[in-house]
This record gives sequence, C-alpha cells and structure tokens, in this order.
Amino acid sequence: MTTVREHDAKPPVWALFAVFGTLTAVGFVALKTTGDVPVLASALYTGLAAITAGVILAVTHRRRPPGRRGWYLLGASQLAYALGDTAYLAGARAFPGLADVCYLMQYPLIIGALVTFVRRRAPGWQLTTMFDAGIMAISAGLVSWVYLIGPLTADEGMTATARAVTIAYPVGDLLVLVIALRLLLGGGARTPSFLLLLGGLVTMAGGDTVYTLAGETGDAWSSLLWLMTYALFGAAVLHPSMHRIDEPGHARPVGPASMRLVGLGAVSLLAPVVLLVQYRRGDVSDVPVIAVACALLFLLVLGRMAGLVAAQHRIAVTDALTGLTTRGAFEERLRVEAGRRHRAVGVILLDIDHFKHINDSFGHPAGDRVLRDVARRLRASARAGDLVARYGGEEFALLVSDADEPRLAALAERIRRIVAAGSVDVGGGVFRGVTVSIGTAVLPGDAGTPDELVQVADRALYAAKRAGRDRVVAASHRPAAAEHEGWPEPVPLPRPRRTEFEAA
Ligand code: GH3
Ligand code: MG
Ligand code: MG
Repeated sequence: MTTVREHDAKPPVWALFAVFGTLTAVGFVALKTTGDVPVLASALYTGLAAITAGVILAVTHRRRPPGRRGWYLLGASQLAYALGDTAYLAGARAFPGLADVCYLMQYPLIIGALVTFVRRRAPGWQLTTMFDAGIMAISAGLVSWVYLIGPLTADEGMTATARAVTIAYPVGDLLVLVIALRLLLGGGARTPSFLLLLGGLVTMAGGDTVYTLAGETGDAWSSLLWLMTYALFGAAVLHPSMHRIDEPGHARPVGPASMRLVGLGAVSLLAPVVLLVQYRRGDVSDVPVIAVACALLFLLVLGRMAGLVAAQHRIAVTDALTGLTTRGAFEERLRVEAGRRHRAVGVILLDIDHFKHINDSFGHPAGDRVLRDVARRLRASARAGDLVARYGGEEFALLVSDADEPRLAALAERIRRIVAAGSVDVGGGVFRGVTVSIGTAVLPGDAGTPDELVQVADRALYAAKRAGRDRVVAASHRPAAAEHEGWPEPVPLPRPRRTEFEAA
C-alpha cells in the first residue's frame, strides 16, 4: 500500500513546492539586494512562511499520518514564525518585542515535533546514540558559546531582558541541533520526507547562525536560508513518504571502524582547537568553559569506548544462532565456579537425538529452528543463576552452582521432559517432536577438576545414548564399561508421522 501511494503522486506536488519556495527565496534576495521593492519583498517573505504553515497543517489534517502530532507541532512552529514576521512588518520592531516572542515560540514547538519523531522512530534510550549526540552537542555548544553567545553577552549596554532574548536564539538552535542529531543517528527509515525535514533544520540553523554572526550585513544570506527552510519543510510534508517519517527502525550497527567514529574524533578535536585559537588571540576568558567542555568530552568518549568494549564482549560470549553463552565463556565460568571452595558445581550436558535426520529430511534452516527452540526451552527451565551454553553443534551445557546430585538429576529430568513435550515447526506446516539425551556430573563428587567434570558428564551423556536415547544418566550411576558392552545398539529413529513423509 505504501509503495502504491508513493508512486501514485502525480504531479509531484512536493517538488513543485520546493521549486516554488526556492524561486521565491531567490526572488526575495534579488529584490532585497536591489532594495527597490521592499513591500513586495516583505509580502513574499511573510507569505511563504504563512503558506508553509498552512500547507503543513492542512496536509497533516487531510492525510492523518500516524504520529501526526509531530507534524502538527512543526506546522505550529512555522505559524509562530509567520506571526513573528507579521508582527515585525506591522511595526513591532522594538527589541526585544512581540516579534521575538513569536520567533522564540517556534523553538519549543519544533523541539516538541522532533522529540515526537525521535520517540516513534527509535524508542528507548539508545545509549550509543545519546553519547554520540552528546559529544557533537558539546563541541557545537562550545564553539557557539565562545564565538556566538559569549560575544553577545559581552555588550555592556544591553538590558538583562535583551541579553536573555539575544542568547535564547543560539541556545534554541543548539537544542534543535542536539535533537536533530539524535533523530539522524537514532535509526528509523531515511525517507525523502525525513531527509527534506533534516535539510530544513540545517538551513534554519544556518540562517540563524549567519544572522547572529553578520547581523544586518548578512541579512540577504540569512533570509535566503530561512526561506529555503520553508521550501524544505513544505516539500517534506507534501512528499508521499511523510506518513512514514515516524516509522521505527533499528539503530544502525556501529562498528569500531565506522565513519561515525572518525566524525566523532574530528568533532572532539574542536575543543582543543578552540583553546589554541583563543590562546593565539590572547583571550583566556573562556578557558574555564573550554576546560569543562574538554573534561565532558573525555568522559563521553570514555563512556562510548566502554560501550564498544561491552558490545564486543557480548558478541564474543554469545552464540549467534541461539543467543546462549558460547563454549569458551561456559568453560571460563566453570573454572571460576570450581575455584570457589565449599561449593559443589553441577554440569548437565545434553545432545539432541538423531539431529542429523532433521537436517537431512527438512533442511538446515529447519535444523536451526530446532536448535533455537531447544535453546529457548533450556533457558526457560534454568534457574536465574544457572548458565546455559551452546557447547557444540547440537550439544548444550548447563552450569548449576550449589548443586547436589539428586537436585541435578531432577533438573535434568525436567529439562528432558520439557524438550520432549513440545514439537517444533520444521517448515511446511510439519511439526516434529525432538528428544535429548542427557549426562550429569557433580564436582567434587564425580570429578576432581573442571575439565574432568565435563569429560565425566560427556561419558554419562554417551551412556544415555547407548541406553536408547531420550533419557538422563548421572555420572555416578553410569554403568561400568564392562556392563554396557552387551547393550543394544542405538535404537532406530521412531517412525515419523505421516505428515513428515508428505513434506519430505
Ligand atoms: P545422535 O542421536 O547420536 O546425537 O545423532 P545426531 O544425528 O544428533 O548426531 P550427529 O553428530 O551425527 O549429527 C549432528 C549434526 O548436527 C551434524 C551437523 O551437520 C549438525 N549441525 C551442527 N551444527 C549445526 C547448526 O548450527 N545448524 C544445523 N542445522 N545443523 C548443525
Ligand atoms: Mg545428536
Ligand atoms: Mg552431537
């Protein structure tokens, strides 16, 4: 349905609006630089803001996209801007004045819009993204403080209100930047509408920055950027993908060598660069602020590194197919547990019976499904402190601390029953029962060392196989070698149900 709607849009109204907005912007700047027709220029200027606000609100109302609150807030923010322009044109030119109230109102509205999108696109805290956005925000905030906000506060002749309002603009932009970064980095569908919205945020912050730095002299450029913001916001809401802007997405996998880390490194270096520049200028007034920013950046980078290390560790100790602990991590933990005095350690080893037959009959993916299902049942049967591992191909292991033999045997028997009780969808609507053979052993009762403990449990497991599968054998009850010499060979596979033949 989504694609149909996206390709049905003829003519592309969003593109027409973008062209119309861009022509208006260029026209305005041309008129303004000649200085001939200020009335027409002003009408163009305010008109585009009002039209954009109207378009955003009307399209949102008509299309009723999911999460439309964000779009409504964006429309309201543009309305606030249009009102500010109108007030300014109507003569409210005092600073700070009514126009500033309207202009500043756009910040909470636009931030509300972005937060709504962020929360729907990438729910949860997403620590990695927060760290990254934090690093970029502190660097941008520092540059903004030293070169934009600081000079603004230095003007002695300003009243306190005028100063507060002057500072509110770059601070508002900074907040928008932080949330825009969170929006960009946090995952979610990067639809054309989303990219147009981001583009609008960039031109908006650009326009504000040019205005703050260059004031009236940069007026034409700041106006051009602001007008482009309307063109981009309008195009974003008109693009058919607007109803997918809040589509949740997974955070992009962040590898240690990713471009993002290179970018973060470059951004983090801004603080020492600012320090050097100020030193060269002989201006030390901002050194305390720069020092605090550096310290925060160090801490955030450290936090980010800790996150990467933790992620790598998680990958190293987790079996990709089943999500269980890997054999290496299991053996490590077994050594630790065995090193604790006065505490018995139990090991349960289990192996799926006739697993090869499942692979051969239903294919490898079906085998994988069985492995995942058995893993799920094991996790469900284990106690909170027990460690469940995938020991090898279709072998699993449980580490049970403080175990005595009867309890271990009871747990193993429970696991055997739980596995045998269910059946697994092996594809094509065929359900296949699965059984496991289990061997158990306890340290120090059955073995002297962790390695020996696993060997003994393994021997018990093979005794269970020989005894006919689908059973538990405790190491202490394992028949002596001489005893099971005459035991029957492994029983043939139970005759599959009719449905299995049909599917195979
Ligand atoms: P037994 O009852 O004696 O344990 O017989 P079995 O068929 O279960 O044992 P066998 O050792 O002959 O076969 C194990 C099979 O497990 C062989 C291998 O291809 C398969 N296997 C190992 N790892 C995986 C895996 O990750 N996915 C799938 N689908 N199969 C796997
Ligand atoms: Mg097997
Ligand atoms: Mg095996």
